[in-house]
Amino acid sequence: NTFAEIDLGDALNQNIQRCKYVKPTPVQRYAIPISLAGRDLMACAQTGSGKTAAFCFPIISGILREQYAQRPRVARTAYPLALILSPTRELSCQIHDEAKKFSYQTGVKVVVAYGGAPITQQLRELERGVDILVATPGRLVDLLERARVSLQMIRYLALDEADRMLDMGFEPQIRKIVEQMDMPPPGMRQTLLFSATFPKEIQRLASDFLASYIFLAV
Ligand code: AMP
Repeated sequence: NTFAEIDLGDALNQNIQRCKYVKPTPVQRYAIPISLAGRDLMACAQTGSGKTAAFCFPIISGILREQYAQRPRVARTAYPLALILSPTRELSCQIHDEAKKFSYQTGVKVVVAYGGAPITQQLRELERGVDILVATPGRLVDLLERARVSLQMIRYLALDEADRMLDMGFEPQIRKIVEQMDMPPPGMRQTLLFSATFPKEIQRLASDFLASYIFLAV
């Protein structure tokens, strides 16, 4: 069981090799084929399980397969294709760093936006174009209110450490964000929800945001 056996595409497979990943971790082994098949997913996975790659690989692979990365996208309002929400600046930066390695030389552009830091530099980055936006909920709401980000083109939504985002009180922001995504035809937007625990509040998010999803616990 190796990554080469999974149909992620040549460019991404090269980057996976460059990162020296050979064998998928358990969450990757199950989550990646489910995501590649276009299904929504609720996965219970801990930090250190390899969950970042589990949601990044299918997103990058999908963007490359659809050749979305070729589209013109330098504009005052950014139209990302994928949104990865995470609770903290540290986690967002970690995801951003990994996602950049995975999309090296593919043309897929990854940008990070988090609170507690000046917005100017983040705005400048967004103006240069973005395919995958990694963001904390509060800063993203700010960007949406300034009309500097639009979520109308979102095809992939990943929520990382969803239980921690709820613990931190981000549920209203998360709901506001998801409401702003155009209701695409069924099957057009894929949602991947990752959480270390699966309490009632997370089950409610899953039933509100996911379409006939697959539940995965590793
Ligand atoms: P994560 O749970 O996504 O934070 O990943 C934990 C650590 O494991 C990170 O340093 C990853 O780079 C590494 N990692 C993830 N998947 C693999 C893999 N399949 N092979 C080797 N290292 C991995």
